[in-house]
Amino acid sequence: MRVLVTGGAGFIGSHFIRTLLQTLPDVEVINLDKLTYAGNLANLEDVAQDPRYRFVRGDVADARLVNGLFRAGLDAVVNFAAETHVDRSILDGRPFVRTNVVGTQTLLEAALRYGIRRFVQVSTDEVYGPAPPGVRFSEDSPQNPTSPYAASKAAADLLCLAYRKTHGLPVVVTRCTNNYGPYQFPEKFIPLVITNALLDRPIPVYGDGRQERDWLYVLDHCEGLVRVLLHPDPRPVLNLASGRTVTNLQVARTILRLLHKPESLLQHIQDRPAHDRRYALDTHRARAYLGWKPRVDLEEGLERTVAWYRENRAWWEAVKSGAYRAYYETWYGKVLQATGRM
Ligand code: NAD
Repeated sequence: MRVLVTGGAGFIGSHFIRTLLQTLPDVEVINLDKLTYAGNLANLEDVAQDPRYRFVRGDVADARLVNGLFRAGLDAVVNFAAETHVDRSILDGRPFVRTNVVGTQTLLEAALRYGIRRFVQVSTDEVYGPAPPGVRFSEDSPQNPTSPYAASKAAADLLCLAYRKTHGLPVVVTRCTNNYGPYQFPEKFIPLVITNALLDRPIPVYGDGRQERDWLYVLDHCEGLVRVLLHPDPRPVLNLASGRTVTNLQVARTILRLLHKPESLLQHIQDRPAHDRRYALDTHRARAYLGWKPRVDLEEGLERTVAWYRENRAWWEAVKSGAYRAYYETWYGKVLQATGRM
């Protein structure tokens, strides 16, 4: 089986490639990644020499390059490539439309032209928008994105489903909740809390910190995605989640406890615009259809993640320097400087 994995140098994509190589002895993996600030080949150092793996640097919105890869013969695509950070989409939405929408359409067009057995579009719970208390969104719930990031992912989902309906393309859109685990870029909440805590730096927490999220350990997610890839009957949309929601503040406090750091590091800052209060998914359909359920609970997953960041300081120190530093100062700088706690 020849699989094109896009965005494979990012957080989830790199874990997925490793999972695929471990699960399927005969698989061939082509990793197409533009290596934006979020792409890092160090995430895949351990598989770089595997003869079943090949890296291609390039843009999913580059039709010539993408067509060339499909022409050479592919069985499946798993599309992770995306601009993924909501805060950055508020600063500038343009790269989000180009990669997340135009990039997805470029892949769909190529899949249509050259044929494909499975197209997995890795989407997000954010396309449903905020879930009212007590409500869990199912795959049939309407899309209601609130950020430019979520809107670009929702647009890509609609394109995928339209290509499925119109052209019969075997597309599955998976919508997962927040992932966490090793190799996650430290702009995201959990690694930001861990790495700032390790540096004894203030930890920015939006608003009252009582936003609720469902955290899915990245390897559980990847196992689910392999099942989606191999299942003989592609369903249009599948929700993948842990099934348990917790507040950001609970997560931050657990991490500080694991690191023996004081809660005084937490610094509440002004909430970001249109910050969704709660995400929650109903995963009955995916669990029944895939025979899948997450195995790592939040406590164990956080312990593993904290241990990884502790032991891999060189990885995140390199990532936290340079361009990330400039972004961090633009986004959080004013608020933290105002309180003298940068
Ligand atoms: P990430 O930001 O860590 O990685 C994204 C990768 O895509 C990077 O390697 C980057 O270089 C690459 N990329 C960006 N633009 C590209 C382009 N034009 N062409 C080729 N490659 C490009 O992202 P992640 O957290 O691993 O997320 C992967 C996917 O999962 C995304 O589609 C995201 O929307 C979705 N998702 C993530 C989460 C999460 O919690 N991380 C939750 C729900 C959904």
